[in-house]
Amino acid sequence: MKNTTTDIAKRFPEKSVKDMREMLSLSKNIVITTHHRPDGDAMGSSLGLYNYLIKKGFSVKVIVPSDYPEFLAWLPGNSSVLNYETVKESCDKLISEADLIFCLDFNWLKRVEKMESPIRTSRARKILIDHHLDPEDAFDISFSYSDACSTCELIYDFIDGLDDVSLIDKDIATCIYCGIMTDTNSFRFASMKARTHRIIAKLMDSGALNYKIHELVYDNSTESKLRLTGFALSEKLTVLSEFNTAYITLTEEEMNRFDFKSGDTEGLVNFALGINGVNLAAFFSEREGAVKISFRSKDDFSVKDLSSKYFNGGGHKNASGGFSRQSLSETVRKFVVILPEYKKLLTGQE
Ligand code: 5GP
Ligand code: MN
Repeated sequence: MKNTTTDIAKRFPEKSVKDMREMLSLSKNIVITTHHRPDGDAMGSSLGLYNYLIKKGFSVKVIVPSDYPEFLAWLPGNSSVLNYETVKESCDKLISEADLIFCLDFNWLKRVEKMESPIRTSRARKILIDHHLDPEDAFDISFSYSDACSTCELIYDFIDGLDDVSLIDKDIATCIYCGIMTDTNSFRFASMKARTHRIIAKLMDSGALNYKIHELVYDNSTESKLRLTGFALSEKLTVLSEFNTAYITLTEEEMNRFDFKSGDTEGLVNFALGINGVNLAAFFSEREGAVKISFRSKDDFSVKDLSSKYFNGGGHKNASGGFSRQSLSETVRKFVVILPEYKKLLTGQE
């Protein structure tokens, strides 16, 4: 049955649905891609859309710009994912020969890093489906809604907009469930609306096993990941009570000592934010000659503004990221030096 809520009507107006149907009918080769270092929403939306389009009879490839964590490598369709870093030549060919490229869970093409140039120069039509603010004007159609909790929610809406909710099976439902779950920190962020819970219920009706998905994502730590978390929390956490701020740092050497694998520090920053009174949390990690930063905040403090102003980044109001080419200690110093600018917002005091 067609969902006729105003949300859907606004996100997928008749004209877009008509354009979308036309573009799909003209497309022989479809590529789906997502941002560098894909997370649960990136992989869930890519594979949710992949499983749907395959079911509709299209020829589809999912290409990711870099590797992703083991705890996502079980999603239905995972074995068909191509990693641009390991099979660059065949990916370049697929991108240049594609008729249609879906860009999921990012707002600027630079977020696909080395895939940016091949995508820009591909003759394919480009469709954006995303929930970050300020999308780049580089797409033929943009389904960009920052009020959506996740790109996976928009994939559900997209399928609904095409009148195909009845095609959502266990595989599609599992992928979409996973992305909504991870991007809302298990359904607890303000972005999680009653309507999203209703979507989750429909996904469970379609076969998504909630307990199994939680187990596969969250109860899937290696011993070394748990020990790295313990080390970071006991030895590398700094609390700056004057600014209601806490941060964690890890050097490359420290991560290697705990046999670091992609995804091992996912969620670490949330422990810092979980401290009573802390409104701003940051996690700085040294990787491949740069410093990757994750920011999280509570309530009205915008870490998107902070990361875009000072750390080449962006994201959402309460969850953002960025990077620095300075050393780890210089980057942390810069962060500490800018805190007085935000003191009033963070503490309510001058
Ligand atoms: P995370 O801390 O989990 O890596 O990222 C949190 C949020 O910030 C995500 O929504 C992600 O899209 C965004 N983000 C992370 N790193 C970057 C970055 O380097 N640039 C921009 N623009 N956004 C980022
Ligand atoms: Mn997302």
